[in-house]
Amino acid sequence: MLPLYDAHNHLHDEWLAPHLDHLAADLAAVGLAGAVVNGTTPADWPEVAALAARFAWVVPSYGVHPWDCGNRPADWLAQLEARLAAEPRARIGEIGLDRWMLDRAKPDDPRLAGLRRAPLDEQTEVFTQQLALAARRNLAASVHCIDAWGALLDTLRTARLPARGFLLHAYAGPVEMISPFADLGAYFSFNGAFLDPKRTSQRAAFASVPPDRLLVETDAPAMTLRSHWRTHDLPDRPDATPVNHPANIAAVYTGLADHLGQPLPALATQVEANFKRLFQ
Ligand SMILES: [Zn+2]
Repeated sequence: MLPLYDAHNHLHDEWLAPHLDHLAADLAAVGLAGAVVNGTTPADWPEVAALAARFAWVVPSYGVHPWDCGNRPADWLAQLEARLAAEPRARIGEIGLDRWMLDRAKPDDPRLAGLRRAPLDEQTEVFTQQLALAARRNLAASVHCIDAWGALLDTLRTARLPARGFLLHAYAGPVEMISPFADLGAYFSFNGAFLDPKRTSQRAAFASVPPDRLLVETDAPAMTLRSHWRTHDLPDRPDATPVNHPANIAAVYTGLADHLGQPLPALATQVEANFKRLFQ
């Protein structure tokens, strides 16, 4: 069985937690060898830590996500520093910039319920502080970006960055920006949602990602694959939001190998080397 690596998920999420025992069995059955599990706010970091204590293949990652930036506690940075000092396996994420939340998200979007939507300058300050922490400890940082690609490039060009690199998860930016991001140390993870033939720009962009910067991810429980590709299902949330099963990582590898016209074993070998270089 090929060893597979999920560069970005949220296995501790409340929509996966009730299924954890059978998820773990399903992940073992598809050959999962490593997964970066991302906390998004100090309130969920203990759940990420609990998974890391239970499963050796979990890479625990801690950060303040742009959606949670507006509700962060006053001592968030001290909490993050304490966690990094206490946990040698800890990495940084999910952090980043999000203009969609400000410009396009509906006022009643359930994913943003109860959250104060921090303006971009406030997001940038919190993002930059976390990048500086990643740089000081040379830890991989996992970055979220929606609708803020120019601001992201500007920020990364002036920020201190970890020498080992950083991940642009579910990269959906312009193909022309892959090279400048790569020059700064970026890796790019392909999400299963990009298998949708309608996602033409993302699919085309990944043909231009340097092979030594390519990673694969589910973002589970978010970003469900189309049913054509999906191999594992979970019940929808009560509001009908689909819940992505993390064992769909195998289907993402298969679909990406097909899209890139590469044999699956060669892709898996490349992705394993990339994952270990960045995260281990
Ligand atoms: Zn995420």
